Amino acid sequence: MSGGFTEKVRALIRERARGRCEMCGLRIPIGPQYHHRKPRRAGGTAAKDVSLPSNGVLLHPLCHEKIESNRAWALQRGWLLHAYDKPEAIPVRMWHGTVLLVGVQAVPTDQSPRQDPDGGDGQGAAGDGSLPDADSPTPI
Ligand SMILES: [Zn+2]
Repeated sequence: MSGGFTEKVRALIRERARGRCEMCGLRIPIGPQYHHRKPRRAGGTAAKDVSLPSNGVLLHPLCHEKIESNRAWALQRGWLLHAYDKPEAIPVRMWHGTVLLVGVQAVPTDQSPRQDPDGGDGQGAAGDGSLPDADSPTPI
């Protein structure tokens, strides 16, 4: 029941999103959804950062559905986070570009949501399309 975003946080997210779906950029006429990037029950404990604006995105019901049914894809783009991720540290690939959600702001970044861990600078960022599926973790 509770454990979602407070009304205050929802208002901040709506303001940041300007009433548009943060995935596709179109207006949301009805039923806006506030998606938790890091799941609320991640790891069995309710981390405080799950209820911050940086962990929430405003979406159409169908775009939300897309995240839930394409979890590997969503992890690659920052729509979903691991329990150990910090929402403010992982960018999201939104319709208008890749941004870091810091506080109540969306800050443009050229960082990829998921970096290769080899320390390369820019090189080796995977292009769109191919999904590594070897080590995608399965929450639950
Ligand atoms: Zn949408």
